[in-house]
Amino acid sequence: MLESVEIVEVSPRDGIQNEAKLLDLDTKLALIGRAVAAGARRIEVTSFVNPARVPQMADADELARRLPRGQARYIGLALNRRGFERALAAGLDEVNFVVVASDSFNRRNQGVGTAETIAAWAGIAAAARGRIAAGVTIGAAFGCPFEGEVPLSRLMEVVAAVAEHGPHEIALADTIGVATPRDIAERVGAVRAAWPDIPIRLHLHNTRNTGLANAWAGIAAGARALDASLGGVGGCPFAPRATGNIPTEDLVYMLERSGIATGMDLEACIAAAQWLEAQLGHPVPGMVMKAGGFPAPRAA
Ligand code: ZN
Repeated sequence: MLESVEIVEVSPRDGIQNEAKLLDLDTKLALIGRAVAAGARRIEVTSFVNPARVPQMADADELARRLPRGQARYIGLALNRRGFERALAAGLDEVNFVVVASDSFNRRNQGVGTAETIAAWAGIAAAARGRIAAGVTIGAAFGCPFEGEVPLSRLMEVVAAVAEHGPHEIALADTIGVATPRDIAERVGAVRAAWPDIPIRLHLHNTRNTGLANAWAGIAAGARALDASLGGVGGCPFAPRATGNIPTEDLVYMLERSGIATGMDLEACIAAAQWLEAQLGHPVPGMVMKAGGFPAPRAA
């Protein structure tokens, strides 16, 4: 097993994009500040998408201007060339481009087929060189809400087409939370074996309660980074019944108590998750934020 794993905080983007209540810019910046204070050093802060389709992300450009710089690397998500150009203009540290492994979901998410999005990625990768780190998330890498099973051979074809253009990292996303630890071990193992020089990140949703087991399997298989969201908030506007990401504080608890360093402070994560729950105004799925860590921290 690895001795340390990087956790990428995604609550400001994936976490809240599906919330009915719009969080204002100051609240989002406060959330990012709390994540940084808890030890997050890479944060997906927003997505540069059509505000008519994802109203929660309408303030992406303004948010980028107001980020506290220098404490963490900030990632912006993009679904097409225009989104990439906005992320670049906003001066973010990384762009996370999305290619969905299944054609139907890619059309639903991005309005074009997977092949067209891969063609856009080729142009983006060239334009990004020397200017911004560009990685790719492969959506629906373990199953599709519209097509069902996504064969391993199909995933490998898509990863091969993406890898050709030199992403700094590839994330395999279980967008609808259908993966089991066996699937994770198989697919992370296959991608690692084929492209040993490309770091692998996992993006896991806990829709069927396999999220933490999958995280463990992913680390064992060599994934170097994991996306997570404070409180386990999240969902996808274009994936029916998708629920939240794995909760950051539950992941930190499991890993730290297993001797795998995350660089994050559990108590600060719990406090941030509780604060976020209050901002959203409804219960969130995280469990360690309710039960507390163990052993209980001593009063100062
Ligand atoms: Zn997601």
